[in-house]
Amino acid sequence: MKIAVVGTGYVGLVTGTCFAETGNQVTCIDIDTNKVARLQKGEIPIYEPGLDVLFERNIAEGRLDFTTNLTEGIKGAEVIFLALPTPPGEDGSADLKYILGVANDLGPILEQYAVIVDKSTVPVGTAEKVQAAIARNANVEFDVVSNPEFLREGVAIEDFMKPDRVVIGTTSERAQKVMEKLYAPLVRQGNPVIFMDERSAEMTKYAANSFLAMKITFMNEIANLCERVGANVDDIRKGIGTDSRIGKRFLFAGIGYGGSCFPKDVQALAKTSTEYGYDFRTLEAVMAVNEDQKTRLIPTLTDHFDGNLRGLTIAVWGLAFKPNTDDIREAPALENIKALLALGARVTAYDPEAMNNVAKLIPEITYCHTPYAALDEADALMIFTEWPQFRTPDFEKMGKLMNNKVIFDGRNLYDLSVIKETGFAYYSIGRDSIN
Ligand code: NAD
Repeated sequence: MKIAVVGTGYVGLVTGTCFAETGNQVTCIDIDTNKVARLQKGEIPIYEPGLDVLFERNIAEGRLDFTTNLTEGIKGAEVIFLALPTPPGEDGSADLKYILGVANDLGPILEQYAVIVDKSTVPVGTAEKVQAAIARNANVEFDVVSNPEFLREGVAIEDFMKPDRVVIGTTSERAQKVMEKLYAPLVRQGNPVIFMDERSAEMTKYAANSFLAMKITFMNEIANLCERVGANVDDIRKGIGTDSRIGKRFLFAGIGYGGSCFPKDVQALAKTSTEYGYDFRTLEAVMAVNEDQKTRLIPTLTDHFDGNLRGLTIAVWGLAFKPNTDDIREAPALENIKALLALGARVTAYDPEAMNNVAKLIPEITYCHTPYAALDEADALMIFTEWPQFRTPDFEKMGKLMNNKVIFDGRNLYDLSVIKETGFAYYSIGRDSIN
């Protein structure tokens, strides 16, 4: 099939590359001329494990190319994906200007029947708006389908190539057939393609992300209570996660969720609820708790230093919103670093992939090439992202480099029994402090 993907970010590039891998002819389109120039030179502008192999193979075999020209890019395409940003607008609702802008442009340039697939996360009713925007100027038949994306950054290729399920919102039989054919190679093991109407598909994505955000947040509140009652949240996690009704995943306590999806999607669903006159109280609580949770370790840190961080050097491990990505959108690390600077501390930081992105926003901290370099003469270490390479560090080496042996761990990386052997003071989330 000939496919076009409009928007070549985390979702668009993975979608385009993976559909090229299953034998389709794919053109990815983006308005960012720098990004397209890099892609045309064979450079991948994001960090996503495993993407490079597929990207290089499909370019070499002539199935994947890139352009800034929408008219050229969609020529002959049977399926046109919209993988465009839907950032929060001023009032918290998803801003549809990118989606509707492209929809307006598509009408007059469609030359034959095409299925326009909305892959972006969009509020209920968007497919109808896209349909209307294209129809205003279109001279050919087309269908608009909602096909929300569930990939996780860091394991995006695996998620895309072997999805738990594919959700497709359409009431058109013609579009359904095209989508079935396109996804068939990805669901050969029998994972379901679930067809529903457009509104339900749009709602499914928000329900999934909000539920996961709520699960994390609930566990964070259990952790906060654990600290007060003297219980260990690690044990609670194992104790409840083994219950198949609850499940093991998304139960790790920490300094809250971030990223380009959960914060904005929870906010957008809350906004939709308000618009429809429904007071979605659990969502409001999730947002408020997560906001507080992000900087929960800052008061613990200041208390440890008798209320004064001025002149201290705080080392930071982890900047990305989660491991295995360079994405820093809404990363808890950012808010924490700003709080540390405001309190007069100096910050040295290390992250395997996200330092360049953070340096553009926060140039005034010191970026180091190794985790240990960040610890040199540091008065404390704070951990904000659970990168695997932080899990078994050389504590002896760390102790020798640092001015004080103290760790504030926002991701509960270490067993308390391990830390006790090291002589470090240690503060984490939902467990006893060692000091
Ligand atoms: P992104 O910001 O990484 O990429 C969006 C791309 O669209 C950018 O490269 C931008 O230059 C381009 N763009 C903007 N306007 C354009 C236009 N008029 N024409 C062509 N290109 C244009 O965003 P993303 O993370 O890929 O997310 C895209 C959508 O997918 C969002 O709605 C998001 O909520 C959803 N989503 C994201 C993830 C994720 O993990 N990132 C997962 C599931 C769903």
